[in-house]
Formats: sequence, structure tokens, C-alpha cells
Amino acid sequence: MKLLHASLCLISLLLILPSIFAASSSEDFDFFYFVQQWPGSYCDTQRSCCFPTSGKPAADFGIHGLWPNYKDGTYPSNCDNTKPFDSSSISDLISSMQKSWPTLACPSGSGETFWEHEWEKHGTCSESVIDQHEYFQTALNLKQKADLLGALTKAGINPDGKSYSIESIRDSIKESTGFTPWIQCNTDESGNSQLYQVYLCVDRSGSGLIECPVFPRGKCGDEINFPSF
Ligand code: 5GP
Ligand code: 5GP
Repeated sequence: MKLLHASLCLISLLLILPSIFAASSSEDFDFFYFVQQWPGSYCDTQRSCCFPTSGKPAADFGIHGLWPNYKDGTYPSNCDNTKPFDSSSISDLISSMQKSWPTLACPSGSGETFWEHEWEKHGTCSESVIDQHEYFQTALNLKQKADLLGALTKAGINPDGKSYSIESIRDSIKESTGFTPWIQCNTDESGNSQLYQVYLCVDRSGSGLIECPVFPRGKCGDEINFPSF
């Protein structure tokens, strides 16, 4: 009888163990994409843009998000609905976020709706490594390290509505940051392909850039526009 009981216990343990591991690894990830957007390319498309209530953002790349990802190209999202966005936990960061992570969606807002969306969809999936304050602080630190506009203008690539080779854009960012970026394009109202977002990869702890284990899909033309803002 004792033996039967022991074997039943062992069998149930063996059945439960994999699901325990699955639950914890579903919130795990391999690296981050750090994604910055060019405001001019968000605004000159067919959908409208609205400046934030704090005013027109600087003519610079702004943060879109810091996105946990798997090496196979898939990614987790909305990992923990028990940890809502809490602006009081990042009150010391708000003025930097207004400058570096401005919202351009309509209707105009302070940015909180954008930050809340990014935290809930992506940030909650990196909680095993960084908490909410660290998540936003990490993105702000990365923005300072990866000065995309500085890298481009140093190479003579300016937001002047002219067209530049995608290779020269990639090379100048690689030259300045040390790592290969992935460039995402969108199209302006006339259908021209243009520089929309730049992806860089970041290690699991959020402390530094790495070469991307995998790039997203999608393609720009060989020559793309860099619109003004
Ligand atoms: P889109 O389809 O416009 O490229 O992406 C829509 C949204 O899906 C992004 O803003 C982001 O939240 C999410 N997303 C798209 N691609 C990736 C990816 O490769 N990794 C992660 N983590 N999220 C992504
Ligand atoms: P994702 O594409 O990251 O999943 O979603 C972005 C969400 O944030 C969308 O619902 C979008 O309307 C909102 N959003 C607010 N401001 C911005 C912005 O400046 N850029 C982008 N890409 N999305 C924004």
C-alpha cells in the first residue's frame, strides 16, 4: 500500500514538474530589441500624428520601446497583469521620458498611455531581470548610449528629405555604436520608402548593446528617404 502511494506521488510529481518549468520559462527571454523611431517618418504617413501635450518633441530619434525577445525570433507579450503601470514609481524619470520617449499618437497625450502600453505589453516580460523603475531607466540609459542622430549626421546623413543608401545608414550606426542595427522603413504619403525605426540589440540584463542574435523580418529599398521633422 505504502509502495503504491509512493509511486502515485512520484508520478504526479513527474506530471506537474514540466508545467512548473513551462510557467517560469514563459516569462523568460534571451535578449532585448531597443527600438527608436524617427518622428518625421511617424508623422508624414497617411495616418496622422499629434504632438504631446508637453509640446513638439526635439528633431531627434525617440524611444519606441525595449522589447524582450527570444533567439528564435518570437517574443513574449503581456506577461503579468498583476503589475500595472505605476507612474508614481517613475516620477523621477518623467521629465527625461517626455524628452526621450515622446508620444506622437493622436489624440495628444502626456505620454503615459504610450508608456503604459509599452510596460504592459513588453516590460512585464522582463520582470525576472528588472523592475518597473529599472525598465524605464534602462531604456533612457540606452538612448544616451546609442545616439543615432549623432551617428548619422557625423557621416553626412541628415534629416533633409534627401535619399541615402541603406548601407551607409547601417554602416554609420555600426561605426558609432559598435553594433549592427536593423533598419525598418515605412512609406510617406507619396509611397516613398523612408527611415522609420532603428533596432539595436541589448543583453538580458539591459546593461549593454550586443550583436543581434536574430533580426526581424522586412525590407527597405536600397535607397531610402530621411525626412525632416
Ligand atoms: P509592427 O507589426 O508594426 O512591426 O509591430 C507592431 C508591434 O508588435 C510593435 O510595436 C511591438 O510591440 C510588437 N513587435 C513587432 N515585432 C516585434 C519583435 O520582433 N519583437 C518584439 N518583442 N515585439 C515586436
Ligand atoms: P506597439 O506597436 O508597440 O504594440 O504599440 C504602440 C502603441 O502605442 C499603439 O497603440 C500606438 O497607438 C501607441 N503609441 C502612442 N504613441 C506612439 C508613438 O509615438 N509611436 C508609436 N509607434 N506608437 C505610439
